[in-house]
Amino acid sequence: MGLIVQKFGGTSVGSPERILNVAACVKEETERGNNVVVVVSAMGKSTDHLVSLAKEISAQPNKREMDMLLSTGEQVTISLLSMALNQQGLNAVSFTGWQAGIVTEPVHGNARISNINTEAIQTQIAAGKVVIVAGFQGITEDGEITTLGRGGSDTTAVALAAALKADKCDIYTDVTGVFTTDPRYVKAARKLLSISYDEMLELANLGAGVLHPRAVEFAKNYQVRLEVRSSMEKTEGTIIEGEATMEQNLVVRGVAFEDEITRVTVLGLTNSLTSLSTIFTTLAENHLNVDIIIQSTTEGGTANLSFSIHTNDLLETLKVLEDNKEVLGYDQLDAENKLAKVSIVGSGMVSNPGVAAKMFEILAANNIQIKMVSTSEIKVSAVVEEKHMLGAVEALHAAFELGE
Ligand code: ASP
Ligand code: MG
Repeated sequence: MGLIVQKFGGTSVGSPERILNVAACVKEETERGNNVVVVVSAMGKSTDHLVSLAKEISAQPNKREMDMLLSTGEQVTISLLSMALNQQGLNAVSFTGWQAGIVTEPVHGNARISNINTEAIQTQIAAGKVVIVAGFQGITEDGEITTLGRGGSDTTAVALAAALKADKCDIYTDVTGVFTTDPRYVKAARKLLSISYDEMLELANLGAGVLHPRAVEFAKNYQVRLEVRSSMEKTEGTIIEGEATMEQNLVVRGVAFEDEITRVTVLGLTNSLTSLSTIFTTLAENHLNVDIIIQSTTEGGTANLSFSIHTNDLLETLKVLEDNKEVLGYDQLDAENKLAKVSIVGSGMVSNPGVAAKMFEILAANNIQIKMVSTSEIKVSAVVEEKHMLGAVEALHAAFELGE
């Protein structure tokens, strides 16, 4: 008898009918002779709805109370799914994060799981029950409710699969798997049969919304066998595992993209040994996330520095830099909005020189100017104007032969 962790996202549990459909899917798994632990998200867009309720009360709601509020979304789903399973003759029990023993660090809004006390779950499994756990939430050592960051139910599921040493973790969602690029925007997008943890991690971090990046990190660290598959269609999904076993010879496996990127440029920065560390420490202390960084020195001995951020963080970033102008020592700030990041990912790149060159050639041939570049062993990202984003994705997807 195996143990399977199944996770169902918001769309998959978006209505009573869909919850009944999920119950049938859980039942099938038990009929295959497996023990099942189920992790669910909040129904449909209910987390967004809770966020907007809070915004109507306060522009900057207290983070502890925000977690208190958002954690209720998943609690609705676990109880309804448990009822649905009981209705279908299965023995089920629902657990909130704390009942499931999910302990997190004491951070509100984006907590990391520090450990899971699986005893309560194990006891219920041994009693023959299906255990349904609320995703996205945990509890601190001091008994405070925390949440794991938007999209965090994936992480709950993978962390539970690791802690319970489950045979597999199935992530059921509203698409049929992981695609070479987002099928909603690119017709030629093709479903991948398998992908490696590292490739998936890059894709998730570079804007592919299909999996929470921290869930992939967990899966990689604990070697959890993951499959992303559809809750509506009975088709094979995408397996995420140690090495991409199939299609391995492909240099590029996927194209990811992300809009709402802004480039900030700091002109005339005093070129001292510590100027970079001072700037980025100041930004980090204000929880501002910086992505690509480019520095160039001028003839006068000062430096110009550009970095990319999410457009939402622009006002705050400019304010922090202006407030610290004296200490940081620069002449002028400049910002360019309406940019996007387009990235190609594939573990075959490590051993294939010329992939970046080919990417730049393709963009140039399509008259797309590159504003910034960053690379790792298995990805190349280029920042371009937002209006060129989808054109760039289509062109790269075709040139690297990722389509059907
Ligand atoms: N309900 C949470 C969200 O919408 C967590 C999740 O769905 O994974 O972000
Ligand atoms: Mg999700």
